[in-house]
Amino acid sequence: MLKETDIQKKNRLDFSTGWSYDPAPESRDHITIKEQYGHFINGKFTKPIEGNYFPTISPSTEEEISQIAVGSAADVDAAVKSARKAYSKTWSKMSGRDRGRYLFRIARMIQERAREFAVIESMDGGKPIRESRDVDIPLAAAHFFYYAGWADKLEYAFPGRKPKPIGVAGQIIPWNFPLLMAAWKLAPALATGNTVVLKPAETTSLTCLKLAEIIQEADLPPGVVNFVTGAGDTGAAIVNHEDIDKIAFTGSTAVGKIIQKAIAGTGKKLTLELGGKAPNIIFEDAAVDQAVEGIINGIFFNQGHVCCAGSRLFVQESIADEVRDKLIDRIATLRVGDPLDKNTDVGAINSKEQLDTINRYLEIGLNEGADIFQSSCELPEKGYWCCPTLVANVSQSHRIVQEEVFGPVLTIQTFRTPEEVLEKANNTPYGLSGGVWTDKGSKIFNMTSGIKAGVLWANTFNKFDPTSPFGGYKESGLGREGGLHGLTPYLNI
Ligand code: ADP
Repeated sequence: MLKETDIQKKNRLDFSTGWSYDPAPESRDHITIKEQYGHFINGKFTKPIEGNYFPTISPSTEEEISQIAVGSAADVDAAVKSARKAYSKTWSKMSGRDRGRYLFRIARMIQERAREFAVIESMDGGKPIRESRDVDIPLAAAHFFYYAGWADKLEYAFPGRKPKPIGVAGQIIPWNFPLLMAAWKLAPALATGNTVVLKPAETTSLTCLKLAEIIQEADLPPGVVNFVTGAGDTGAAIVNHEDIDKIAFTGSTAVGKIIQKAIAGTGKKLTLELGGKAPNIIFEDAAVDQAVEGIINGIFFNQGHVCCAGSRLFVQESIADEVRDKLIDRIATLRVGDPLDKNTDVGAINSKEQLDTINRYLEIGLNEGADIFQSSCELPEKGYWCCPTLVANVSQSHRIVQEEVFGPVLTIQTFRTPEEVLEKANNTPYGLSGGVWTDKGSKIFNMTSGIKAGVLWANTFNKFDPTSPFGGYKESGLGREGGLHGLTPYLNI
């Protein structure tokens, strides 16, 4: 059974290509998921003290996959105590070389079990297997490899200084890159000699709990890494625990602000990686076909569930029609559906709440007078879905241009001069990322020095590497993760 969205009924772009791929689903046979998971504290899976669990469901089928423990303040306290003990007794005293060995071991074990991780990530989070298999899991392993290499070289990273770990880090991560965000947070913290209490997002705990199995097998000393699962209250209990020395958070700007207020004056260190509303700017001298592919990759793959997604397209006026037509043609070929199908481009929206948020923004856009077009993709009856969506006839003041939608929704605006597009590109509260497409090196330098964003791509988009620092300006956050920069938030130098 297929269903048609209201927006499709109103503004249908007829995209029928007349042909289709056969289904090519990735097998689930090789994975094991327990019916119920406790927290991972002091090297063991433990039952939640208050005994409560919540279901984790597949957003593409709405089926329950497993039961996850609800973390209470008492669970968080047990995890922090175990992390503190491991910090004082073993991890901070261990040589960098030995810490590095553990991290190399974890990296290799993630590689060995990459297929299992990829399938679970797609089942639990809804992202296409192509993304989890080719992006999330290899990058997660790469982060452990990269920071393993730094563990015994910290004095070379900061010459003439004596870098020391901070202590116990509380880490809170979102649902868009579950294993990768865990790797981003864990690898630098562990390489620098800190111990960790980490909370995955409530809709995507499973790959973190699978990582706990690897951590056990790798024989990491008990308590060095602890996972407490749960929702916002569990996160708040981590933030407010008095024996935590540092908080690293990735998530919404709203929660980032709550955390910043909560720890003000406590002496806890803080890094925040928050929302974004990235401009993707196409000049008339750009290679248009490549740019169109970059736009598609920047916002539609991964359902737009990327904080650095290129959600605002700016096209130079002289090529606006050409880019729009090519974009529509390309969207016609995007396949929306089963995340485990190897031919799927756009998977399921991560949760019902997120789908409601996206639809609310589309409604706001319509009420503000925008023209909204959705591809005529066929949607499965069950699950949470949003067809690739173009939003035209908008101006800077539209909320759908200003606010983060976090879905496969692209606004299109035009510009005439570089000065004009810089004004428009910088006119949001965010400053996480941006992209520029042009044949001219000088234009790249002018634009990238003018755009107020922490991450900028030229003639490409959404490319990541563990050696590159990542982070934002303004309401997109503070501090950097990745690269040499990513070591400093975990060290007293
Ligand atoms: P998103 O919009 O990406 O879901 P959130 O900021 O709501 O972003 O969630 C990101 C992470 O922050 C999740 O792990 C969530 O459980 C956690 N979280 C939500 N509210 C709070 C809070 N008040 N304090 C700490 N963590 C929180």
